Amino acid sequence: MNRVQPPVVPPTEIIQGLRCKECGHTYEKGSPSYVCEYDFGPLEVIYDYEKLKGKLTREVIESRPDNLWRYRELLPVEMEPEIGLYSGWTPLVKADRLAERLGVSELYIKDDSVNHPTFSYKDRVVSVALSKAKEFGYRTVSCASTGNLGNSVSAHAARAGFNTFIFIPTGLEIGKIVGSLVYNPKVVEIEGNYDDVNRFCSQMADKYRWAFVNVNLRPYYTEGAKTYGFEIAEQLGWKLPKNIVIPVAGGTILPRVYRSFRELVELDLVEDNNPRFFAAQAAGCSPIVTAIKDESEVFKPVKPDTIAKSIAIGNPADGYEVMDIARKTGGWGEEATDEEIIEAIKLLAQTEGIFTETAGGTTMAVAKKLIEQGRIPNNESIAICITGNGMKTQEAVANHVGETHLIKPTVESFEEVCLPTLGEMGAVV
Ligand SMILES: *Cc1c(COP(=O)(O)O)cnc(C)c1O
Ligand SMILES: [Zn+2]
Repeated sequence: MNRVQPPVVPPTEIIQGLRCKECGHTYEKGSPSYVCEYDFGPLEVIYDYEKLKGKLTREVIESRPDNLWRYRELLPVEMEPEIGLYSGWTPLVKADRLAERLGVSELYIKDDSVNHPTFSYKDRVVSVALSKAKEFGYRTVSCASTGNLGNSVSAHAARAGFNTFIFIPTGLEIGKIVGSLVYNPKVVEIEGNYDDVNRFCSQMADKYRWAFVNVNLRPYYTEGAKTYGFEIAEQLGWKLPKNIVIPVAGGTILPRVYRSFRELVELDLVEDNNPRFFAAQAAGCSPIVTAIKDESEVFKPVKPDTIAKSIAIGNPADGYEVMDIARKTGGWGEEATDEEIIEAIKLLAQTEGIFTETAGGTTMAVAKKLIEQGRIPNNESIAICITGNGMKTQEAVANHVGETHLIKPTVESFEEVCLPTLGEMGAVV
């Protein structure tokens, strides 16, 4: 089966170049720039939306295969996509049992815990970044990672035939480490936290001609996160949720989901309902949420100390954009302690059958808090962004779930050992 369909307008005509988010200076496409020459501002891709109006319709998109390239005209790749043909199009689960528990009327879980091939939202950004790496002719790919990004780069790069270097801080969960090693990249643990790893990778990117997906390919990489937002809107029947709760690490996904909604409005694919954006961080690493709550113009970088290691970034690259969007949309930010994260992982698992990792537990716990505070009204639609899979962070909950029962393989043994433990359930079995 053909996993990608032809674009309605050639990408070469839609993609205009790059623009500095600080000063607006523009750069020609094809240049490997990623920061502005004048003020070191981050660059973003510019598209000619006029050319797509009336051509990129709901019907065209709906007729395409179930992967993230169904939105290819809004992604910065000019070559025929070959990477990520099975990534994206994850379930948007209508979470009625959880809604009832939280006392809200319309609740959805966007579930990237089952993304292909490495079970996190990073499979989206990596699909786009590695496609661009191929287009630029790179042979070696790399990244600074808190775990999930390394897993995704390793897997996609194995299939695409790149050489791969993964740089991670020490102390990650075993599931995250094995989840990269199995694809046989070079995995390098750095004595320090993520922010040290990131600084190191910036220096490496100056010296080695490698594609660091979240450093020198960052303008393209971040665009992949828009597909998370496009899918939410399409899966809601081309509507935007009124409230959306999103985890914040480096601050990539929240601003990209915001941009995805703006683009859909611009192209008349959805009606604007001015969604509120809410940022979720762990209490042990909450520079952005702290700044939002203090109504401060600046955030103070922190040293992370949380079980939510995948979002433990103390000095977020796109932190200012997150603060700005939370404010201007009427959203807010909240944080969750380690205990609240663990409780929220169990709540989501036990109401909706979705096992998320600690980052998802953070988002879930924060959504619950914001609803209890009334900052998210209980009669409006709400989307909670679940971005990673619990099987990778089992050590976080292993001591906080029930125990197995050991019996002999006889009915007597079952009745002797298990029946007395059934409690209320005993009445119905
Ligand atoms: C990377 C990551 C995030 C968010 O990171 P951003 O840099 O803010 O986009 C959220 N959840 C999980 C599971 C992640 O791996
Ligand atoms: Zn600039």
